Amino acid sequence: MNHQIDQTILIPKKQVKYRLRDQIFLAWGWCCAYCGSMLGEKDATLDHVLAKKKGGLTIKKNLVACCFGCNSGKSATDWKQWFRSRPYWSEVRERWIEEWLEQ
Ligand SMILES: [Zn+2]
Repeated sequence: MNHQIDQTILIPKKQVKYRLRDQIFLAWGWCCAYCGSMLGEKDATLDHVLAKKKGGLTIKKNLVACCFGCNSGKSATDWKQWFRSRPYWSEVRERWIEEWLEQ
């Protein structure tokens, strides 16, 4: 019990990071924003919709829940261009992502 309290006090920064991460996974229902597959702890990643390399920021609206496969396939490609070339592309998902980016 004491140990847990100590950790809470010592790592507030890390906690904020985890909270943001959890918020994003919850908002996407623990499903990949692109292909819709269910995410487990092991393959749950956050994708920078606008790639970091292209100036994308690590902020909530630029981060979506993403499976490992989509994340590594997308890399720094323009998300829409990449997404539209996928067999699992759907208009609904594309709109969800667009809405997410506009929040
Ligand atoms: Zn995926």
